[in-house]
Amino acid sequence: MPLPGRWLSSMLLRSQRDVVLVDCGEGTQISWHLSGWGFRDVEAIALTHLHGDHVAGLAGVLFMIAHSNRTDPLTIFGPRGTYQVVEALTIVVPALPFTVQIIELDGGESYTLPDGLELRALQVDHRMSCLAYTFYRERAPKFDAERARALGIPITLWSKLQAGETVNVDGRTINPDQVTGKPRRGLKVGLVTDTRVTPEIPDFVRGADLLVCEGTYGDPELRERARQRGHMVFDEAATIARAAEVRRLILTHFSPSMLDPEKFVQHARAIFPETEIGQQHQTITLAFDDE
Ligand SMILES: [Zn+2]
Ligand SMILES: [Zn+2]
Repeated sequence: MPLPGRWLSSMLLRSQRDVVLVDCGEGTQISWHLSGWGFRDVEAIALTHLHGDHVAGLAGVLFMIAHSNRTDPLTIFGPRGTYQVVEALTIVVPALPFTVQIIELDGGESYTLPDGLELRALQVDHRMSCLAYTFYRERAPKFDAERARALGIPITLWSKLQAGETVNVDGRTINPDQVTGKPRRGLKVGLVTDTRVTPEIPDFVRGADLLVCEGTYGDPELRERARQRGHMVFDEAATIARAAEVRRLILTHFSPSMLDPEKFVQHARAIFPETEIGQQHQTITLAFDDE
């Protein structure tokens, strides 16, 4: 539940022109507003599941997006049942100036957003159908300008080769791999909440630059409670991060009974040192290696 000074968990992700909001609890429009990011450019909303703390803010968010003069369609991803929930919540915002497309997922699907960001979903283990998500930005291989010049390729054709197209130069066919280097590491972000640990999660988030994972409870003594309610303890999230060889772990979705999550962070750091407690309105910029 939201508390004074603690908003509900939600993540806004931007990569080039693709903007995605993941989860939308009560008050998300205020957090979004405080982030300074505009509402108009959002391409999709991805819902992990249909508990109130992840969806109850949807009407307000849609109202703000409408207020931003957006007219392009908006996609809402979520588990089975999303259509019914969105339909009910949007009764109070009936005349949206854009169409809302709803895509219900079972887990296992992947979608590429208009500007190339790839979304993947995995079914996890909560008290109802629940999805974890990853977002992946591919990185094009490096373009070898010297080789392109040596092959006599005019600069006007370079962008086509960079985009992976074959070009024709004075009757010669030039393939992109003649002027590009090795494949390069892209960027991957994982969002895992609300769930128990499942055997599939580490592979799903493998190698992520950033994993945002629930840690509803910090105290290992509360493991049984976590199990009953379909949540994780900090050290379980850290175990996923270590097994998946992610670069960085941010814990989120704290129980209102845990007033100071920092008190328990050592339980996670003992397993995965690059663990942080998620902060209010935290903004993180990820860059490609060597950029
Ligand atoms: Zn839940
Ligand atoms: Zn929740």
